[in-house]
Amino acid sequence: MKKLLFVVLPALALLLTACPSTDKPADQPADPTAGQPATNVRKAPAFSADTAYALTARQVAFGPRVPGRPAHVACGNYLVAMLKRYGLKVMEQPFEAKTFDGHTIQCRNIVAQFQPEAARRVAVFAHWDTRPFADADKVHKNAPIDGASDGASAVATALEIARTLSQQPAANRPAVGVDIILFDAEDWGHDDTYQADVPNQLKDAGTDTWCLGSQYWGKHLLPAGYRAEYGILLDMVGAKNGRFTRESLSLKNARPVVDKIWTTAAKIGYSDYFLYQDTGEILDDHKYTADAGVPTVDIYDHPPYGGESFPAYHHTTADNMSIIDRKTMKAVGQTVLQVLYNE
Ligand SMILES: [Zn+2]
Repeated sequence: MKKLLFVVLPALALLLTACPSTDKPADQPADPTAGQPATNVRKAPAFSADTAYALTARQVAFGPRVPGRPAHVACGNYLVAMLKRYGLKVMEQPFEAKTFDGHTIQCRNIVAQFQPEAARRVAVFAHWDTRPFADADKVHKNAPIDGASDGASAVATALEIARTLSQQPAANRPAVGVDIILFDAEDWGHDDTYQADVPNQLKDAGTDTWCLGSQYWGKHLLPAGYRAEYGILLDMVGAKNGRFTRESLSLKNARPVVDKIWTTAAKIGYSDYFLYQDTGEILDDHKYTADAGVPTVDIYDHPPYGGESFPAYHHTTADNMSIIDRKTMKAVGQTVLQVLYNE
């Protein structure tokens, strides 16, 4: 994913004048659940942060999942096998893509359906590839990243949601079908901040050098004619001190779902992670899934007000297992599970 500076900067300027000395905007209620209708809370089963952590480490152990490399193929096979082991209906969507720096890469999206017969559906999206270069790194700019948070943690959270759902007896399943949709080639885009001197060979692509898997899926929906009530995109959800803010495009396309997720997080004790802060638009898979008809919320790690729009480890070699924290994974995984059980 990348930041869209022209949107982020005015938003930040506004925020800085609105709340010079506090994390919480003055116009936000002290209790974010105040005034919300009482929901019939069906308690979701426990999300295992230990399993999610192990699933993150397993992906990282393959090595960087850069499209075209053997580690990428092996990890893709592993993800397909795990989702099948959990009993989901798994489909693969192979495709070929061209990158901004002249590569032709073989990719695949992975779609796994829980309760495929259910009419009402919710999608959980993540990307499973990793960025081929640490262009935001101060030193190792050409090294591929481990993508422990940026990639693996989100896939691991989606997998652990799938595993938890699959273990429930029929009487304790959510009312909705859940589709785990893992995109490839999200992170091989041209970053005009860090790669200003690298020519973009896809002259007419603009910012569409990113999110190649979700763009392909949006044009070739799998399953055919796919529809969901909404989607939740997970991206960078595993790092220590992870914080999640209400991103502009998510609010524009799916504000009621943003409210649902943030209210749920507060109700089950994760308001330290899900901040009531509205922040600027970023480019991520949620743009293309929304364009394809699935209004989508992006849950991604965003430092609180005053900082950069991405955490310090983003697209650097520091994005490795040493930054992964079970507590952050628990906050996100349990919140998403609870949202599914409230449907
Ligand atoms: Zn990334």
